[in-house]
Amino acid sequence: MIDPGRFLEDLRTLRTFGATGTGVVRPSYSEVDLAARAWLRDRYADAGLKAEIDGVGNVFGRSPNPGPALLIGSHSDTQPTGGWLDGAYGVIVGLEVARAIRESPDTADLAVDAVAWIDEESTYVSCLGSRAFCDLVEPDELVDATGLDGRTLAEAQADAGLSGTSARWDERNYAGFLEAHIEQGSALEASGDLIGVVTAIVGARTMVIRFSGQQNHAGTTPMRLRRDAGMAAVRLGQAIDARFGELTGERTVWTIGDMRFEPGASSIIPGSAQLTLQFRDPDAALLARFTDEVERLAAEMSAATGVDITIEPDGRAIEPVDMDPTLHDALAAAAAETAPDRWTSMPSAAVHDAMFLATRMPAGMIFVPSIGGISHDFAEDTSDADLVRGAQTIADAAVKILRN
Ligand SMILES: [Zn+2]
Repeated sequence: MIDPGRFLEDLRTLRTFGATGTGVVRPSYSEVDLAARAWLRDRYADAGLKAEIDGVGNVFGRSPNPGPALLIGSHSDTQPTGGWLDGAYGVIVGLEVARAIRESPDTADLAVDAVAWIDEESTYVSCLGSRAFCDLVEPDELVDATGLDGRTLAEAQADAGLSGTSARWDERNYAGFLEAHIEQGSALEASGDLIGVVTAIVGARTMVIRFSGQQNHAGTTPMRLRRDAGMAAVRLGQAIDARFGELTGERTVWTIGDMRFEPGASSIIPGSAQLTLQFRDPDAALLARFTDEVERLAAEMSAATGVDITIEPDGRAIEPVDMDPTLHDALAAAAAETAPDRWTSMPSAAVHDAMFLATRMPAGMIFVPSIGGISHDFAEDTSDADLVRGAQTIADAAVKILRN
């Protein structure tokens, strides 16, 4: 039903906005990002959609049909040095599916809207466009938001002629939101599957653990008299790794991304230390269990070493979000036709716009394979056949959902 040649051509045209080698540099509100948004608006209009750029820069192509409407898309901004498919793929899938469904006499009565969200990649505020649409942005997040070029978010929006006020989910009757995305991992490639139907998007906890002991001479202080903050940090990190290994779910990941000692000299017992711990899982109960275990192990380590240990959350907790079961099943039924016996259900290990849409309407997502599992890098790529298959899967699922 979709037109593969036209779909790939539009995807490659979007790539030219900010093309840098094999990658793309198109951070939100940059000149090339705004030019790409104007181009997308024109593509939506050419497809017979009511095209509009809202006050934060989200681009909408709304079906003239009354709805309930299925909204399909992703983000068209990139990382500071990004790949050409992250976000862009789902945006052009939305364009092509809305266009193909309008063209076909069998489906021309269905309402499919396309969208390109802004700033998913957090040049200013993470997932700004989709979260603003869902009314999930806290005002204090906007105050200090500053881009790589030093402009504040308000300045960047003013320079672009944008009001700062987004469209909202409750302005139209939506049947749901679908997002196609590259996997950005290697699970599909490893299993040989061609489509991953997303079940849930993982939540994350990040915490800073601080250790306060007694700084002293590394030669003259006997081991039994030490309150060594550095050694307590090392030992607690090791204990957490071992315990998480016992409790781990199928997809749990944990990372000690930073560890530092003060004053940090070879002949001084560290008086203070800190480490940063992050863990992710699609199961909220397991995230809570891990948090409890970190607290328990820290109390044990403090008692064993005489080092004071405090734990503070770093940033907001990200709650895991389940995708809508009905939309999941429609996507799975479509995948069973486009990729017989070569599709799977899987959680998403990365944050996506669909995570926020899921709080306001049924949401569903699919992944297509990333070659070598590489993403957020110029080498990011996916085969044409896989790109086209994903687009067709979304198109088939959209009809199933709207005809339901
Ligand atoms: Zn993305």
